[in-house]
Amino acid sequence: MAMLEVKNLSVSYGAIEAVKDVSFEVNEGEVVTLIGANGAGKTSILRTISGLVRPSSGSISYLGNKIQKVPARKIVADGLAQVPEGRHVFPGLTVMENLEMGAFLNKNKEENKANLKKIFARFPRLEERKNQDAATLSGGEQQMLAMGRALMSKPKLLLLDEPSMGLAPIFIQEIFDIVQDIQKQGTTVLLIEQNANKALSIADRGYVLETGKIVLSGTGQELLASEEVRKAYLGG
Ligand code: ATP
Repeated sequence: MAMLEVKNLSVSYGAIEAVKDVSFEVNEGEVVTLIGANGAGKTSILRTISGLVRPSSGSISYLGNKIQKVPARKIVADGLAQVPEGRHVFPGLTVMENLEMGAFLNKNKEENKANLKKIFARFPRLEERKNQDAATLSGGEQQMLAMGRALMSKPKLLLLDEPSMGLAPIFIQEIFDIVQDIQKQGTTVLLIEQNANKALSIADRGYVLETGKIVLSGTGQELLASEEVRKAYLGG
């Protein structure tokens, strides 16, 4: 059984059909990527999975349960965390306070402390800056904080929406290294990216979206080698 199974999903905003009959799955332990141009429907799919947008038709199963009508907070409590596009750290709160917000559902203080230690080991920059206002971090640091905050909830499935967007090349590589590291530690990842090259090179499998529809799927390596993908997304 797949950890996440999206079946015949359609999402509309009024007259705009942003997602059209999309089906895909994510198995436990995988990094799966959805790639596609601006407006292809990637974010709409993620927001529908995490319960922030309701589908017009289709179903979403997570850990064997249908969740397309379940409240977002209940989905998070069941171990599904999303890092939205554009970071969204809480300004006016320190790095430490932002991380603590990620763990608000877990009342086990010892567990949270151990988890925080792991996150600081993975993101040493966050530990150095733990007392700094999150709003004053650089873009790359804010991305790390948003990922660290999501990891504080110890997710089984992490949804990442364009984590490399707007970052300098050195940070981009670091973010993708961290995604691989997160997978190694046992978290399953659904990654949305416009940086198709990087996303496919670390993904087990991928799906290509065009104007709301899946037009290609395969292993990361297969898609990287596909002429169609190279022409449309890799500039070659
Ligand atoms: P990007 O890579 O640019 O973030 P995306 O693939 O994530 O794009 P979506 O954000 O899912 O694409 O948008 C898909 C389509 O749905 C777009 O045409 C967008 O304008 C439209 N859309 C998204 N959200 C809304 C909304 N709240 N109301 C109306 N239309 C929307």
